[in-house]
Amino acid sequence: MRTLAVLGATGSIGASTLDVVARHPDRYRVGVLAAHRSVDALADLCKRFRPELAVIADTACEEPLRARLRRHDLACRVESGTDALIAAAAGAHCDTVVAAIVGAAGLESTLAAARAGKRLLLANKEAVVMAGALLAEALAHGGGELLPLDSEHNAVFQCLPRGHADLAAAGVRRILLTASGGPFRGRKAAELAAITPDQACAHPNWRMGRKISVDSATLMNKGLEVIEAHHLFRAPAERIEVVVHPQSIVHSLVEYADGSLLAQLGNPDMRTAIAYALAWPERIDAGVSALDLVKLARLDFEAPDLDTFRCLRLAYQALAAGGQATIALNAANEEAVAAFLDGRLPFLGIAATIEHGLSLAPAVPATDLAAILDADLTARRQAQRMIATLSA
Ligand code: NDP
Ligand code: MG
Repeated sequence: MRTLAVLGATGSIGASTLDVVARHPDRYRVGVLAAHRSVDALADLCKRFRPELAVIADTACEEPLRARLRRHDLACRVESGTDALIAAAAGAHCDTVVAAIVGAAGLESTLAAARAGKRLLLANKEAVVMAGALLAEALAHGGGELLPLDSEHNAVFQCLPRGHADLAAAGVRRILLTASGGPFRGRKAAELAAITPDQACAHPNWRMGRKISVDSATLMNKGLEVIEAHHLFRAPAERIEVVVHPQSIVHSLVEYADGSLLAQLGNPDMRTAIAYALAWPERIDAGVSALDLVKLARLDFEAPDLDTFRCLRLAYQALAAGGQATIALNAANEEAVAAFLDGRLPFLGIAATIEHGLSLAPAVPATDLAAILDADLTARRQAQRMIATLSA
């Protein structure tokens, strides 16, 4: 029996995780549920999954959550604040942590889970982009294991040989990450100037939170995923390629020296990756319908358009630059996406904000948590100034 902490329980990944969990009460129970400020949604989940501990990150929501749980007659403990979140990720109420908080807000709880030796089911890619080396160190220290939830990395994980630390020695030539191309595939920059948040969030294949939906529309999501793959699989950037595959059926591929390409295929439903990571090395039912190849009939592939979707190129540049570049990339992207969703920045201003942020990123790496958080804060302030200029 595994006991889970679902951090980001009220989000899209949280919902998919709890859907799989509910199908296997003999295997999984929920020890901790955590969210930011969705009091009602979190209380409803507590009623259904009966965790021992509920954590709400916004301290102002602690009393309202307590009151809601009292009304449901639930004995579950309630805590609030960032420190409570970090303590819950590392604490005794779970052996498995689903890191599904969006953005840099998930960094410290993800690191805490790794350091405490939990099985870490990682969706929070921003944490890896900001602190990949520190996360690897925390995992080594804790002795737990990381299983990627991001569908591409989950696919790569499934296609890589077990137990090889060195990809080249294992005969791996390239990792090919597939990208749907997002809702604006095939369009040119001039056609993207007046895009609205709702248009950007209408992804053709996946239902996701709004931040990652915008990232998919700019292709920054794929850029973050290239950096994520670099850290998770210890692969140099030149061995990680992106191929656009509009159907989102091939979730990613690994190419070997003998010319073999191993791919993982399935319907675009995050529950497959989540079930794989939950049960690994076993396999369990995820509630996902079988892929009908005959009905599907064809799979298409094309090169990404790096001139229109500049964010992907900027991510490769950040990875090559080293220093604090990937921290700056992520911070500028988070600020720019929030401003775009708020109507304060045009769609094309996202790439412009990130490019500006990268030009200011210090060349000295930030190696410990304090330095990383400091670099993140500085980059956010720079991005906010740029956003004010661009929206003026
Ligand atoms: P959502 O926006 O749907 O959910 C985000 C979750 O994080 C919510 O539960 C939210 O709580 C919580 N949260 C937000 N800010 C904080 C905070 N400061 N402290 C604590 N909790 C917080 O996002 P997704 O589920 O789409 O994405 C989550 C992560 O998974 C992202 O990193 C994304 O890139 C990654 N991912 C998502 C995929 C998907 O299919 N959705 C696929 C692959 C990766 P509240 O409801 O209270 O705001
Ligand atoms: Mg992905």
